[in-house]
Amino acid sequence: MSLTAQQLFENSGAVLNGHFLLTSGLHSPVYWEKFQVLQYPEYTQQLCGMIAERFRDLKIQVVAGPTTGGVILAYDVARQLGVRGIFAEKAEGSSARAFRRGFTISPGERVLLVDDILTTGGSIQETITPIKQAGGNLVGIGVLVDRSTQKLDFGVPLFSCVRSETVAYKPEECPLCQAGIPLTKRGSS
Ligand SMILES: [Zn+2]
Repeated sequence: MSLTAQQLFENSGAVLNGHFLLTSGLHSPVYWEKFQVLQYPEYTQQLCGMIAERFRDLKIQVVAGPTTGGVILAYDVARQLGVRGIFAEKAEGSSARAFRRGFTISPGERVLLVDDILTTGGSIQETITPIKQAGGNLVGIGVLVDRSTQKLDFGVPLFSCVRSETVAYKPEECPLCQAGIPLTKRGSS
């Protein structure tokens, strides 16, 4: 019996319960530590397989993701589709993402964008920019977990292995703060 995507995350210890400070400044009782699941190649392979299957018929030519988690995801989804996998990173002192290290996208090349956790769509948007600048044809977006609280439209099909809307509170309204539970800061971009 194979596990669902949600079970893969839970079994690997990626779904943490507590009192967490999110990048947005809001507080949440749940934090998804994606690298807990990504440390297991067999789990990563299953999740990337879900994304690869969803987009297999769309003649993808290159898979692109943003650093850091997107490096692993682009690699494995690309491996399963038999195409190239590349990543977009921030140059030192810049907030914009770019394809470096000799990575290129040819005009009209069919691109699948992958990322780990979708919350506000910031890192996806930052990766769409250099894809479009290169003249790439973005045909879909695949993420491990869609935690967005409002419907995001990137103009192409969006697939997520797991949908789990973020529960978050403003600090002044946070019941966890009121209960005196220590606040934890996790993760990075
Ligand atoms: Zn709080």
